[in-house]
Amino acid sequence: MINKNNKAVLITIGDELLIGQTIDTNSAWIAQALNKIGIAVLQRIAVGDESQAIQEALDAAIAKAKFVFITGGLGPTADDITKPLLCNYFKGSLIRNKEVEEHITAIFTKRNRPILERNLKQADVPDNCKVLFNQLGTAPGMWFEKDHSIIIALPGVPFEMMGIVTNEVLPKLKKLVTDHFIIHETVITAGQGESFLAEKLIAFENKIPTDIKLAYLPSPGIVKLRLTGQSTNQAALQQKILTFKEELIYLLKDSIVALEDKTLDKIVSESLSNNHLTIGLAESCTGGYIAHLLTQHVGASQLLKGSLVCYQNEIKQRILGISAEDINTYGVYSETIATKMAYAAKELLGASIGIGISGKLSEDPIQSEIATGTIFISVVTNKHQIHQKILSLYDRERNKEVAAQAALLLIWKIIQKELA
Ligand code: ATP
Ligand code: MG
Repeated sequence: MINKNNKAVLITIGDELLIGQTIDTNSAWIAQALNKIGIAVLQRIAVGDESQAIQEALDAAIAKAKFVFITGGLGPTADDITKPLLCNYFKGSLIRNKEVEEHITAIFTKRNRPILERNLKQADVPDNCKVLFNQLGTAPGMWFEKDHSIIIALPGVPFEMMGIVTNEVLPKLKKLVTDHFIIHETVITAGQGESFLAEKLIAFENKIPTDIKLAYLPSPGIVKLRLTGQSTNQAALQQKILTFKEELIYLLKDSIVALEDKTLDKIVSESLSNNHLTIGLAESCTGGYIAHLLTQHVGASQLLKGSLVCYQNEIKQRILGISAEDINTYGVYSETIATKMAYAAKELLGASIGIGISGKLSEDPIQSEIATGTIFISVVTNKHQIHQKILSLYDRERNKEVAAQAALLLIWKIIQKELA
């Protein structure tokens, strides 16, 4: 018999997932939560609201995994077929659960809304499952057992699913999985492409044992390197992974920007606040996006002075004090103008670091000789300046992302210079 222990399969249900209307964020979230308690996800499957497909997925999942998660299709509408199907599949019959019924009634009463029979039907659960109480919604989760597997059915609404998993499911699973551990350790590099890093790591990769995996995860501006291992001995595994992580850090020391998995905006925010530095932006082509990224984190008010979104040339003149003559001489897409924008932002906003960013995101008649996708970024302090010219050949949206990530990286670099 296959060893199903510590393995999970995630099944997400809904036609909306198959036509691409909804992006399946549920299984990504569940996979992370399971990894933390030592359960490895073998497979993620999305199926439509269709009984045969759901049953086939269930058969296949139960055959190979101890834990099977299903999300979606528990709602009160006719397209939500999961519950009757599960009842049938596990050969139970639906009975009304008093506790859930009272909870649903209370929710509707509180919202001052009439209760329909189809809402109360959400309190009907198969008599052979354990009910997983849903504090945040009306459809309860369900826990079934079959062929030495545990099958957990959850509503599709992400925050409801997360609530049930956090409050009801994980505490139970933690008690069941005590002998298996999965550890991920991540370092983040910047400035070197994936292939270049791989060249540097040939000997390292040959040396790591087969039970430890190294993954390269590139995104604009950075490459994350993740070491993953699984073991029954947590302390030994931790020790082993950390030893290899140390070596990775040593080999890539010049390119490393963080020693754990986080976003570049978070890395930069932490670095600014740890060093009591502040930032002022003059954003043209990114339209305030860099400020958006920095304001995602608690404590942004301590480090972000502000962002002046100066899109039209006239505004660059009027607000930032850049002369029409300079714009004519150098072109609005130029290092000189980006630098003037950076100094203006620094002075006007009273920040220790100023950033200016100006780029041509799509075809326009201004400076027709400049290639679309050309972006100039300047980052300045009292002592230092860093400039970068990028040619980003994607669509507008991705070009903005590339520009913002590059700017964040330059901020990180100038902080290092300030500290040196
Ligand atoms: P409810 O009882 O609250 O209606 P449900 O179990 O019926 O929940 P669905 O009707 O399948 O859930 O989905 C409800 C919402 O959750 C939909 O807006 C859907 O797009 C979203 N959703 C469903 N599955 C996922 C998923 N895998 N990832 C992200 N969102 C999802
Ligand atoms: Mg549905």
